[in-house]
Amino acid sequence: MNIDFSDIEYLKNPNGITLKADFKQFLLSLDVPTVIDISGKDQNRCRVIVTLLHGNEPSGLIAIHRWLTSHKELPTPETNIRFIICSVEAANATPLLSHRILEGGIDINRCFGSDNNKGYYQRAKIIEKIIQEVRPEAVIDLHNTSGSGPAFAVSSLLSTRGLSLTSFFCDAIILSGLELGALMEQDFNCPTITVECGGANDEQAHEVAYEGIEQIARCPSIDNFQQKKSVEIVYKPLRLELKQGKSLFYSTHNEGNDGVTLLAKIEQFNFGGAHKGQMLGWLDENGLDNLQLINESHEDVISEYFTVRDNQLVCATNLRIFMATPSYKIAKNDCLFYVVNRTGTSIV
Ligand SMILES: [Zn+2]
Repeated sequence: MNIDFSDIEYLKNPNGITLKADFKQFLLSLDVPTVIDISGKDQNRCRVIVTLLHGNEPSGLIAIHRWLTSHKELPTPETNIRFIICSVEAANATPLLSHRILEGGIDINRCFGSDNNKGYYQRAKIIEKIIQEVRPEAVIDLHNTSGSGPAFAVSSLLSTRGLSLTSFFCDAIILSGLELGALMEQDFNCPTITVECGGANDEQAHEVAYEGIEQIARCPSIDNFQQKKSVEIVYKPLRLELKQGKSLFYSTHNEGNDGVTLLAKIEQFNFGGAHKGQMLGWLDENGLDNLQLINESHEDVISEYFTVRDNQLVCATNLRIFMATPSYKIAKNDCLFYVVNRTGTSIV
């Protein structure tokens, strides 16, 4: 597929015919990244909501379409809202909404803030410009996780406005120290958060995205917003990774595999975490040496978090677990899951 990385389409206050009967038809009617501008009561201010940077993460699109079409007339938010539907080509590849990126493509959410001006980097730069030109007072990037789990936000910076934005969607924010080239890491001179709404196939995740958009649209001032619910701040989780060349399996029981075998239902620990002594899977005779957990000082701290009981992989302390996935590909190439020691969290 030949992609024109400089091409963007704009829709302003689209009517029902343009929005089609449902989100799938609407998506199929788009060809390239699409900006949807909605006029608010106060036209001097704008909030930006981005989605579909990853083509298989539909909650943002579903929620945006629902919000735009839930009444006879387009809703009028308190401020202007600019929606940006990004990886339209990947999302539209067959089967619909199942490709994170197009075959042969790269992850655009690793291309922001780069000096490279070609291909997906060029597109990332254009999207940055499209956000900057409205001088936003908030930027929210909506995603889904590959496994099931409760919604959480991620940000590089903590601010009261960032916490208020988070509270529209969920009750936990991860302060991330990672620099991956993600949209969220860019400085738009306003609070910028990523929201992982939950699993891509979870109805609840679509609801989280919708409720968040609805509340943002109705909030006259994020500065003066009184948070209705507390938000847990999770400091810099570590990535549990498989060491190079080690193998990974999933199972409900010990099969005596080489390398690491995770419990088939590992994603259940995204809900509520895992207590000290909890078994998460099985290890071969190399034990914890199959895995690594690198902290900010580049030290492997695996034995502070995990231990081995017979040949079982066991939590050495109470842990909070994020983004555990039953997807072999993501677990092997990215990480098995993110983890924080339960003492590393606080409630605001
Ligand atoms: Zn994503």
